[in-house]
Amino acid sequence: MFDMHCHVDLIDPMNRFCATAAMLNISILAMTTTPKAYYAETRMLANYSSVNVALGLHPQLVSERKQELAIFDRYAASSRFIGEVGLDFSKRFYSSKEDQIIVFEHIIQSCARAKTISIHSAFADKQVLDILDKYKTTEHNNCILHWYSGSLAQLERAIEMGCYFSINEQMLKSINGTKIIERIPIERIVLESDAPFVAGINKAELLQGSLTRTQDGLSKMKDGAVKNILDYTSRILLGI
Ligand SMILES: [Zn+2]
Repeated sequence: MFDMHCHVDLIDPMNRFCATAAMLNISILAMTTTPKAYYAETRMLANYSSVNVALGLHPQLVSERKQELAIFDRYAASSRFIGEVGLDFSKRFYSSKEDQIIVFEHIIQSCARAKTISIHSAFADKQVLDILDKYKTTEHNNCILHWYSGSLAQLERAIEMGCYFSINEQMLKSINGTKIIERIPIERIVLESDAPFVAGINKAELLQGSLTRTQDGLSKMKDGAVKNILDYTSRILLGI
């Protein structure tokens, strides 16, 4: 099974979580929220072949960490995976809107090709897609919209642009989330936990339970077993 958006560095102890996940046959695309964390995490998890670490600068941290963009640039060329990046125009982070746009646009410009990018788009669905469109990012990279919660019109646009979507258990439980999932072709969907933010997932066993329930929910919704399709798409996005 694949968890395509997980914050292992916010789970203590990270190494045990990753080791148990590997034993449970779960491969993880690990998000980072700052470039400094990326550097530390790639070193700490170098021996875990089931974990790929993505280089990120979370939009909610842009106001305090935007100076780390220089560190981002140092690793951008060598990192195949980018995330978590994006825009968050919810009330709490709206004041950093301008800086978020500058940072995200800079990051997207550096993703010229062959990257897999996990993107946050809370209350900024249109603006995120405008930037991806402007730099034709989806033509040369795999863009995954993580926990998409935007409008159905922008969802259609994202599907047309070739975006992928990582889906978590919480989305399946909400009316808006199910409306969104119903419209996405199954071959554009992968699983995510967004642990530890969703339902307090802090153990690999809990992660396995959540991913399994999400997979089962998707099978029900899409009228057929989806495991093979989800695994296949995840492998493409991870390049394995
Ligand atoms: Zn996240």
